[in-house]
Amino acid sequence: MDGKIHAVLGAGTGVAVAQTIGMEPVDTAILMSAGVIAGLVPDLDTAGKLANKISLSHKMIQGFVRTVGILAGAYAWFGLEGYAMYVGLALGIFLLVIAPKFSQKLMLLISGVAIIAAGVALTEVWVWLSGIYVAAAALVGHRSYTHSIAGLLFFAVIAFYINERFALEGLFWALVLGYASHLLADMRLVPGNKRGIKLFLPFSQKLI
Ligand SMILES: [Zn+2]
Repeated sequence: MDGKIHAVLGAGTGVAVAQTIGMEPVDTAILMSAGVIAGLVPDLDTAGKLANKISLSHKMIQGFVRTVGILAGAYAWFGLEGYAMYVGLALGIFLLVIAPKFSQKLMLLISGVAIIAAGVALTEVWVWLSGIYVAAAALVGHRSYTHSIAGLLFFAVIAFYINERFALEGLFWALVLGYASHLLADMRLVPGNKRGIKLFLPFSQKLI
């Protein structure tokens, strides 16, 4: 499934969650963005050339890494102080300027490691868990673990800690359901999807 379709589905999921709990426009926009990000992350595993054609292109993943860099930098500048601010700014500059210069797999791998290091330095659980996700996505095959229930559960743990940190109503569900919308859209039951996903990894290799 095309990355743009996943982004739209993720956005719709975020808005639906916001509507359900009756949120203000600003919070709705935040949940929509969270839905878009969650709706795209499973395809961070698209490191091969063929994978690029059917999903996120190298440019889109570069854009993704740069966006995370800008968000990390802005968060550090406005939300952190002293040592923590410098760690956040260093991570932001690294992801914005240095990481995108590498090939796709390497870019994601070193971005993941940098995010883990920053998360440990900042003692932010959700940050280093996200780093593990990004590094793992770079290493596994396309449409394998990130496109499984195991991947969804791991992402739900990250979403739980993000929700704890930012305490915005509906954020957990916008993230988890945004991610789930990606898996649904990649399933074989959707017309045009020949390949499907291995939803029950590591217990079953069956394509769903
Ligand atoms: Zn996918």
